[in-house]
Amino acid sequence: MSAWAVTASDGLAEAVRLDERIEVLRDAGSTLHAEDVLAGRHDAAFAPAGAGPLRCADGTACWVRFSLSRTPDAPARWWLRLRALRPGEVALYAPRIPGGEPVAQEGRQFPLNWRFVSTDLFFNVDLPDSEAHYHYLRLADTPHADGFSLWQPLGFERQQRQLATYLNASMGVAFALMMVNLVFWRWLRDTLFLHFAFVMFAAVLLHAWQTVPALAIDEQMGDLNLRGALQCLLQAATALFVARLFDYRVHAPWAARTAKAYAAFNLLAGAVALAGHQAAIEPWSAMLELLSLATAIGLAGWLLFVKQQRQYAWPATLMMALTFSSMLGRLQWLGWMPLGGDVTLGVSWAAARLFYMLLLAIIVADRTRRAELELRHARRRALDDALRVERELEARIAQRTRELGTSNAQLAAEVVRRREAEAGLQVALESERRALGQQRQFVALVSHEFRTPLAVIDAAAQSIGLPGVEASPRAVKIRRAVHRLAMLVDNCLAEERLHADRLKLRIEPLDLRTQVEDLLQPLGPAERARLRLDLQAGAAPVRGDPALLDIALHNLVQNAIKYSPPEREVRIALHLRGGEACIDVEDQGGGIRAQDQPRIFERFFRGTTSAKASGTGLGLFLCDEIARRHGGAVELLRSDARGSVFRFRIPLQTQP
Ligand code: ADP
Repeated sequence: MSAWAVTASDGLAEAVRLDERIEVLRDAGSTLHAEDVLAGRHDAAFAPAGAGPLRCADGTACWVRFSLSRTPDAPARWWLRLRALRPGEVALYAPRIPGGEPVAQEGRQFPLNWRFVSTDLFFNVDLPDSEAHYHYLRLADTPHADGFSLWQPLGFERQQRQLATYLNASMGVAFALMMVNLVFWRWLRDTLFLHFAFVMFAAVLLHAWQTVPALAIDEQMGDLNLRGALQCLLQAATALFVARLFDYRVHAPWAARTAKAYAAFNLLAGAVALAGHQAAIEPWSAMLELLSLATAIGLAGWLLFVKQQRQYAWPATLMMALTFSSMLGRLQWLGWMPLGGDVTLGVSWAAARLFYMLLLAIIVADRTRRAELELRHARRRALDDALRVERELEARIAQRTRELGTSNAQLAAEVVRRREAEAGLQVALESERRALGQQRQFVALVSHEFRTPLAVIDAAAQSIGLPGVEASPRAVKIRRAVHRLAMLVDNCLAEERLHADRLKLRIEPLDLRTQVEDLLQPLGPAERARLRLDLQAGAAPVRGDPALLDIALHNLVQNAIKYSPPEREVRIALHLRGGEACIDVEDQGGGIRAQDQPRIFERFFRGTTSAKASGTGLGLFLCDEIARRHGGAVELLRSDARGSVFRFRIPLQTQP
């Protein structure tokens, strides 16, 4: 093949493509020696390479040669570039110098030209004069090599600068996106932003891995172990981000767990790479990444088409496209898919990276927009709800106010009605009181008027009998009737007196003993015979109204006589104790029924068994009233089958 003469304008704006101009010798078993090849002993075996990449692996080494000359104005030193996938041994041998030793030059890598899939290898090619020379390359353990091209150093430098600009811009974008998303995260408290910031953080580090060595250490290639570790970090961040972007936790919790496990694996793999085993771990990491990318695509499709989660349409489509391209890269790296057409020094690749990040940012922005819309909807809904509740509340308050108004009016009417009723009642009460007063007055008047004729009748009945001769039964009967009538009159009068507001007791000092003894006087002989007086010796001085005390004691004695059989004795005892004079009246009657006992002192109360006996129900009431007016009391000490005992007590008169 004829030599290719490079000119001064070649390899400046773009590379001189050599792919068509190389010849290849396939050394199966890798047995040929460099001296022999360089000495031209195998020249006949070289053949044009033909289309497609070179495959120099599995024990077969490839010898590649090309002939170059230059025009006089062209520079003497050039850069040869080839693109290799997982390159093994690649060496360039300088043009054959007769008699000289073959000198092998190892390929150089530049950080800026580092590729995710393939690797650019650079060699210095010297064209000392305008003569044509053969240059030899030996490739072994390199499954894929192509993109043989030549650059002038000036063109190469320009290329590098351009690349650096793109990469720096790309890093700047990544950094800006990271910061913006961190701010969004702080503002909106949505962890999606934090996840994305994390992805961008890993991207910034990866960029830095490429650009920082290029700036600082004069094109020295960065540590590939570190690069592997950073790649793992990016994969971990991306997995977590995708899981968060598509809300795996909500739709497919197992996927969320898997994404976390995958991220953890990547962190572990990163640590292993850092420890110097990047080359060993990368195939595994690449295969796992392929699997995870396929899963992500599947899940996105499932969410979109099966679960009809339309809100993921945008992110899912973009994610699918991006993920798909990553998958292609991984497939190529693994050698499971042929590499695409030659990529030049990589400006388009760097631009693609920039584009990739911008797309990601769009995805996040879209999610944010949707979230914002949802939030706005939710707010509007909440506002509508609040308004509705408020309206309901107002309606209810209005209703309540109306009801309250009605019930207030009813209440007012009721108050008026009640007041009227009360006034009516007052009037009725007043007239009732007046009627009662008149009635009392009348009873008092009648009772009073009864007294004189009764006294006359009693005196007449008494005078019927002769002194010393027992009174005739008729006279006794008359006297008893008169007596009963007188007592009734007395009770009525006493009741009247006690209830008249103007009552004043006619208090005077008296001896209760005499008072008790006088009780016998009005009684007939039969009644008197039943009484047994048991009076403590000496006087019982008290202060009291003699007429009222007489009525009180009389009532007690009369009850005892009335409610016990005629043959039974009634005992009246007087004794002094604790500053009081006590008069006990004890009979041997049938007693008072238990249910009646609490009521016997009530006015007009009559025992349920006393219908046979005559009475008004006033006696005990008066007795109690009189005792209390005198500062004493009357009480039922005992009442049972043996009879009843009443005690009447009033304070003894203390010495002045
Ligand atoms: P009355 O005019 O009926 O005797 P009282 O006020 O004197 O009215 O007595 C009230 C009731 O107490 C009597 O109806 C009677 O049932 C009962 N009572 C009063 N004293 C006795 C008594 N010594 N023995 C039995 N019952 C009595």
